[in-house]
Amino acid sequence: MRLTHCVGCWCSDTRACIDETSHEPCHWLRVDRQSGTGVCSCCTDQLQAWDAGQWIWLVIWMNGPDFDVSALASKYPAGTPALGVV
Ligand SMILES: [Zn+2]
Ligand SMILES: [Zn+2]
Repeated sequence: MRLTHCVGCWCSDTRACIDETSHEPCHWLRVDRQSGTGVCSCCTDQLQAWDAGQWIWLVIWMNGPDFDVSALASKYPAGTPALGVV
């Protein structure tokens, strides 16, 4: 399985960051497994940008110019566990 990285802090499925308030490892608030990008629970300030599609350049950079951007429409639902469980 390919790794998914948070666009805010670049944590990933195997390297969670720790939420400063709950002291729990982060989870995905948004995740798109196909493009390998997401927004973790420590990066709520990135949610708006993500939802507005402002991270599309990163997706294209990570996946190459041939990446089918329309695949991003199939975002996984919020609350998908980030770590370990897929
Ligand atoms: Zn993050
Ligand atoms: Zn994180």
